Amino acid sequence: MSFVIGLTGGIASGKTTVANLFHQQFAIDIVDADIVAREVVAPGSEGLKAIIEKFGADILLDDGQLNRAKLRNVIFSDPSAKQWLNQLLHPMIRQKMLSDLEKTTSAYALLVIPLMVENDLHHLADQVLVVDVSENTQIERTMVRDKVAPEQARSILASQATREQRLAIADYVIKNDTENQKLLPQITELHKKFLEKSRENL
Ligand code: ATP
Repeated sequence: MSFVIGLTGGIASGKTTVANLFHQQFAIDIVDADIVAREVVAPGSEGLKAIIEKFGADILLDDGQLNRAKLRNVIFSDPSAKQWLNQLLHPMIRQKMLSDLEKTTSAYALLVIPLMVENDLHHLADQVLVVDVSENTQIERTMVRDKVAPEQARSILASQATREQRLAIADYVIKNDTENQKLLPQITELHKKFLEKSRENL
């Protein structure tokens, strides 16, 4: 198992962009909470079976995949259903992230968790890297990427941890307000530091 660097940041801060660069440039293994969260409810999984038992087979799309939009609507209007779902899935997601990390072989691995602060998950990582951008940049990039109105982008930001709360758990910070090409020098610097840290921890 690799030394684990947790990677987090708010919506559209650039987590995926940053993680992809570490992977492409330095062949660093990535475990991504969003991907794991989909895997634990894939067809045939224990997670999906439990969801079908609770909400009925109507919660599926025609192809047998979970209808995420429908599930989101159900839990939006029913806090107890939301709590039930979180209690089911959070331990599964956590367990799968840990077992995926066990299989990593690069000198260090990146564990990408968008809601690391909100779900108090930074203890899963040895150290934490935060992708930091101004709120205006987050709003602009969310509007462009997700084609949403500014109010909607703002309300998503408001539902997440603040920039300060994330920075409070950071061991390292990447500034991503700049152009994409300025990211690589920061990533190369961090890569060297992470290699040193992972050697210290052998
Ligand atoms: P989320 O958690 O919301 O899925 P994220 O933190 O993974 O987002 P990305 O998807 O990597 O963020 O980036 C958000 C958007 O901003 C993307 O459209 C991406 O292309 C763009 N972007 C990221 N970094 C930069 C940059 N330095 N300059 C310009 N655009 C950028």
